[in-house]
Amino acid sequence: MKPSLPSRPPGFVYKSNKLHVEKIAASDLARRFGTPLYTYSATTIRERFDIFNRAFGKVPHTICYSVKANSNLTILKMLVKLGSGFDVVSGGELERVLVVDKKAAKKVVFSGVGKTAPEMDLAIKSDILLFNIESESELELLASRASKLRKKPRIAFRVNPDVPAETHPYISTGLREHKFGVPITDAALLYAQAASTEWLEPAGVSVHIGSQITDVAPFNATMERVADLVRGLRAQGHNIRLIDGGGGLGIAYRDGDTSLKAFEASAKNYSAALLPPLNSLGIHLLLEPGRAIIGPAGALLTRVVYSKKNGRKTFVIVDAGMNDLIRPALYGAYHEIVAAEPRGTGAETVDVVGPVCETGDFFARDRELTHLEEGDLVAILDAGAYGMSQTSNYNTRPRPAEVLVEGSRAKVVRRRETIKDLLGPER
Ligand SMILES: *Cc1c(COP(=O)(O)O)cnc(C)c1O
Repeated sequence: MKPSLPSRPPGFVYKSNKLHVEKIAASDLARRFGTPLYTYSATTIRERFDIFNRAFGKVPHTICYSVKANSNLTILKMLVKLGSGFDVVSGGELERVLVVDKKAAKKVVFSGVGKTAPEMDLAIKSDILLFNIESESELELLASRASKLRKKPRIAFRVNPDVPAETHPYISTGLREHKFGVPITDAALLYAQAASTEWLEPAGVSVHIGSQITDVAPFNATMERVADLVRGLRAQGHNIRLIDGGGGLGIAYRDGDTSLKAFEASAKNYSAALLPPLNSLGIHLLLEPGRAIIGPAGALLTRVVYSKKNGRKTFVIVDAGMNDLIRPALYGAYHEIVAAEPRGTGAETVDVVGPVCETGDFFARDRELTHLEEGDLVAILDAGAYGMSQTSNYNTRPRPAEVLVEGSRAKVVRRRETIKDLLGPER
């Protein structure tokens, strides 16, 4: 049987039995740059951004890519060129955007429940598009920072619509019991309070109900509630021009289809859920996709170090660990794993695990995979989102390098860390 990846983006394909990232064999990338190695397909990033953008057609909108999904500077720069804005959740992420392009600040929204005064100051001075405020205390602090700087930032409250969404409990955010946002029922009072301070300009309403959501019905229910709120706020005299619909559109990690064609359908389905409630409001829509843009555009290449049998179980031990890709350990997440050069000698049921000293350090459990031998290269697919951005140095392991591939060109967009990099701050 010839290996193929019919349902993957064109950036990851088999040619003559070898996995390629665009036009370069994965095995060549591994030889040149070492493993573990994050590889991204530039074409896939661009195509997915365009598909998502097109799904909202002529509706006035701005995509504010969620920087936390993958915050590599070169990728952010690509997105700037495509016209993207950014959703940041820390001062550090804002600094990344500013380093890439100072002018991009005008399309930045700042989310997060714990913004500190220095983070607010940086964002106020940068004149970002919108602060998404998540509590009354934050409102007070932002007003006091703004008055000190004699600037009037635009604000929205991130409202919690109390809409359940089917996803992992760690990444569901839209229920009353979650730490995020303010109860939608408290919103009218909070907007009145914001408007009464001379230093804040209520300009929008924000929501974000969670991540990796594949059923679009909760997005529709959320927008119905937000639209009602906007009508109410306008009746009270607030000039609400922006609705920030958040991110959260999921991808098919398992048995699914992450081809561009499937994404086109999914993005259209998503916009068809979001848009009808906003029909007659004449607002400018902000969208904060992360995973849907970058997830399927990346793969983590890793080499088999050992394979061993413990009783009835076979373990394939690879040179990437949970510090390099934590999603399976953190969320029990599923990632497709394929051999870069399949031997075609039958399938085996194995656990694919890393070298880190934790039982949770696994990439697949009881997975049927093509036979792998020590030294073989495998690719963990759909690892572009929340992969590199969630890495750590646990076990004093340097972070992997990142390589961006476009056609037959490969560029190191982050060099591999060294042990010296790790020890530096302690010397
Ligand atoms: C994480 C996050 C996003 C992006 O979520 P995806 O599931 O990657 O699309 C968008 N907005 C906010 C506020 C977030 O916290």
